Amino acid sequence: METHPFLAPDFAVRWSQLVPAAVGPDITEALARAQRNLAAIAAQDLATVTFASTVEALERACDELGRAWGFVGHLNSVADSPALREAYNAMLPAVSEFYAKIPLNAQLWAALRAFAATPEALALTGVRQRLFEETMADFRQAGADLPPEKKARLEKLESELSQLCQKYSENVLDSTNAWELIVDDESKLAGLPVHAKEAARRNALAKGHGSEAQPKWRFTLHMPSLEPFMTYLDDAALRRRMWEGSCGVGATGAHDNTALVRQILALRQEKATLLGKPHFPDQVLARRMARDGATALHFVEDLHARVGAAFAREAAELERFAAERAGRPVGRLAPWEIGYWAEKLRQERYAFDEEALRPYFPLERVIAGLFEVVRRTFGVQAVERPAGAAEVWHPEVKFYELRDEKDGRHLGSFYADWHPRESKRGGAWMNYLLTGEPQADGRLAPHLGLICGNLTPPAGDKPALLTHREVETIFHEFGHLLHHLLGEVPYKSLNGVNVAWDFVELPSQIQENWTWEREGLDLFARHFETGAAIPQELFAKMKAARNFRAATAAMRQLSFGKMDLELHLHPERYAAGDLDAAIKSAIADYLVPTEPAAPSMVRRFGHLFSSSVGYAAAYYSYKWAEVLDADAFTRFQREGIFNAATGADFRRHVLSRGNSEEPMALFKRFMGREPDLNALLVRSGLV
Ligand SMILES: [Zn+2]
Repeated sequence: METHPFLAPDFAVRWSQLVPAAVGPDITEALARAQRNLAAIAAQDLATVTFASTVEALERACDELGRAWGFVGHLNSVADSPALREAYNAMLPAVSEFYAKIPLNAQLWAALRAFAATPEALALTGVRQRLFEETMADFRQAGADLPPEKKARLEKLESELSQLCQKYSENVLDSTNAWELIVDDESKLAGLPVHAKEAARRNALAKGHGSEAQPKWRFTLHMPSLEPFMTYLDDAALRRRMWEGSCGVGATGAHDNTALVRQILALRQEKATLLGKPHFPDQVLARRMARDGATALHFVEDLHARVGAAFAREAAELERFAAERAGRPVGRLAPWEIGYWAEKLRQERYAFDEEALRPYFPLERVIAGLFEVVRRTFGVQAVERPAGAAEVWHPEVKFYELRDEKDGRHLGSFYADWHPRESKRGGAWMNYLLTGEPQADGRLAPHLGLICGNLTPPAGDKPALLTHREVETIFHEFGHLLHHLLGEVPYKSLNGVNVAWDFVELPSQIQENWTWEREGLDLFARHFETGAAIPQELFAKMKAARNFRAATAAMRQLSFGKMDLELHLHPERYAAGDLDAAIKSAIADYLVPTEPAAPSMVRRFGHLFSSSVGYAAAYYSYKWAEVLDADAFTRFQREGIFNAATGADFRRHVLSRGNSEEPMALFKRFMGREPDLNALLVRSGLV
């Protein structure tokens, strides 16, 4: 008998069976099954269509494919190998094309529209109505209503866009990799932290520069090399060379992205016009909280106005500080001086070394503390399953069960994979593998998810000691995970994290707040040797340093958000002439004034141009979600950060509700009103 391990429906996933050789046959089979399901929906008699035969059938049609492809994608992230990569890339085009064609399938759309005209459709309520409306909107937004020749143009345009974006992103990567800075005089590296210097030495050796006896140091434009260099290196001339290198990314010779930016903007505008929207942001944001480009732009401009004065103060303060320290008249700083002097000012003002916190954050205690926080707040209990109780994809992976504290119900299970490996991609993330469906008693079967990170590993006989930023990351990703595991929505596509992009970071970012509260930290932050809590003086420094140059940090995000929206709302202004000058005039009062002026980020801004949509027209979402989380957390601050009733409300109105209703309605049910910008300004020390 033929077996298809990737299509096995078991909750106890048999990772040992999910081998690269099975990817091709299993995904091919899943595509065929999904295709048959869709064909059956499309071929039905339009006179007898029902909710079950259209909307619900469509919801289920690609279940197996979605689940199986999810496993492949996940393994691609945590167990990379040449064989798996090849198997993944071999199936990727077929899978993407399959999904892209669904909303353009005229027969399917006819079946849905036939259902939309029935009395049953008009009488729908609650989550069934939501599923119906979301399905119709998915089709419309993707062009289902267009006449055949426009559909054909749309398909062509999407494929052109994805090629242009791929090229843009290759140009960024290739020009980043093409640049290097080799230093052979160690005295020029004064100021640089030991770990950065050591990394540069090893990098040089690996590239054949220098030797153990006569070392050289190689620096690149990748963040781990660039960032400490620009922040700590005393030699301003070298910092300037590094800065000039970074300005060249995506901007010179064969790697110049200028023309690509213009083509991408033009195609996106054409797509919006085809789909009946005035501008690309209106098309992208139609179903997000912001709704349209004008609202998103207003949000950015409003925040700009509120932080503008503090931003100007911070810039002037840094100019004075640098002048005093360097013994020169006060004046504009050069772009390669900002990070350096800001760090000097931070050190002088707070004498705070983030490394001093590490001993208080041993990983095991942090995890236990996180579980205690969510137990108190949301009434759920996470318990580790003994090693060997379940198969995992790597021996380091742990497996947990999440239960409701009240009735012991098994809400879901999750894997945790914390430390870096060569076969694992960078960063930290949450993902889901299975979404439970309603059972006979009406409750959902347990969900299955995972949380992955690249946290500091244990060193020698010391436990893994984390930075506070890493602690925040764990809490953040666990917030996403709770959104999935606590979901109570009976339709998978509406459950958990499948919500509007400018809402999805609320459950994750709000969780970070507990790591900044004394009461929260005291639950778990204990010195790994002495068991002492974080000394009050250190805690005070950590809190104070949090908001150092907060207006500048906020303004940087706002400048990206503003540039993103300007480019996509007015592509014609950037279609010819000097691209940098045009952008600069649109965002001049969002930029730290420097001498010389810095060119814009537009040619190396992967968020906006590395994929067909990505963060395009949506960069503002970062700040938008911060507004939501800062505001929602004020209720916990008022009522107690471990107040179980407040936590239960958050669980009832937000964490369990997925996309079963408009996000604004969910937010308002929790807060009793619309979001208030002010909470974010208060948290950032800007009012
Ligand atoms: Zn997140």
